[in-house]
Amino acid sequence: MEDQFGRKINYLRISVTDRCNYRCVYCMPETGVTWQAHDNIMRFEEIVQVVKSAVKVGVTKIRLTGGEPLVRPGIVELVRMLNRIPEITDISMTTNGHLLAHQADALKEAGLKRVNISLDTFNPDLFKKITRNGDLSQVLAGIEAAEKAGLTPIKINMVVVRGINDSEILEFAKLTFQNPWHVRYIELMPIKNQTGWGSGFPNYEEGYISTHEMLKILEELNLNKFQQFTNQGPATLYKAQNAKGMIGFISPIDDDHFCARCNRLRLTADGHLRSCLMSEQEVDLLPAIRNGNNIDDMVQAAIRNKPAHHFLKEKLSPNDRSMMQIGG
Ligand code: SAM
Ligand code: SF4
Repeated sequence: MEDQFGRKINYLRISVTDRCNYRCVYCMPETGVTWQAHDNIMRFEEIVQVVKSAVKVGVTKIRLTGGEPLVRPGIVELVRMLNRIPEITDISMTTNGHLLAHQADALKEAGLKRVNISLDTFNPDLFKKITRNGDLSQVLAGIEAAEKAGLTPIKINMVVVRGINDSEILEFAKLTFQNPWHVRYIELMPIKNQTGWGSGFPNYEEGYISTHEMLKILEELNLNKFQQFTNQGPATLYKAQNAKGMIGFISPIDDDHFCARCNRLRLTADGHLRSCLMSEQEVDLLPAIRNGNNIDDMVQAAIRNKPAHHFLKEKLSPNDRSMMQIGG
């Protein structure tokens, strides 16, 4: 189905939990957020029901996210259930990688195709600071296991923050010479709960680095731009000569055409369908599902009402949920 701006919606991002084993500074406050009560979280059968409705309007791709999707018990079983829906041709996951090493094989076997792993630095101490106690060695083991399991191409997501990890931009790009990875730089987004950064981290305005500036830092690599087809996701892709992997930029702020390419819907862990990451507009599916109602109309309404674009340039961002409560 197309929305009112002619964007074909074929991609659903599902947040399977609002919980996380990390506390990344740009995502949530040190003290965490108030978790949803267990009963408010969608059960697997309910998620499958939403996917079956979404399939009817043309969704074929799913990404599991969170919070941290790998902390949800039974996540492998959910992948298996989703993989049984014939119209779903692509299931992927965004994870911090901490719990990936011992689950990679089972996830692959259940039908997961690929993983995006969030990794902002190769400095173990800085990693601990950014994630507030994460363990870099576990994430690296997760990447290795995912590669061995064939959850490829591995995509590494780096949120770039000035004065924190911008000195590693070039080093990350050079990883694509030895590895067939996609290294993707994500522009920092202003979103609820970043106010509590403290402990030496810059505020949003100080921390934000545009894609334009990152490309300047990578000038020496003579990157070749790849054709960006419409409806192929949010990243603008480049490749360095003789590199095995690709370099991508997720530029919600710097790229004026970012929203025009958006093909996605988002399902929060508590069953709200959200047509834009950066809009508070939501459809609450859970009561309807639990009352035994058909939700097809509600899914279609969410697509019809998808906002044309966000207002990040105007410094307007949602204040209802943090990134981890929406699903990033
Ligand atoms: N826990 C998983 C992870 O970290 O990959 C999945 C959820 S996380 C919310 C999804 C993505 O959002 C991650 O790649 C993370 O780096 C990114 N993210 C979180 N807060 C962000 C922010 N303020 N600006 C840009 N990206 C952000
Ligand atoms: Fe957790 Fe991912 Fe948010 Fe970090 S970015 S706190 S790993 S949900």
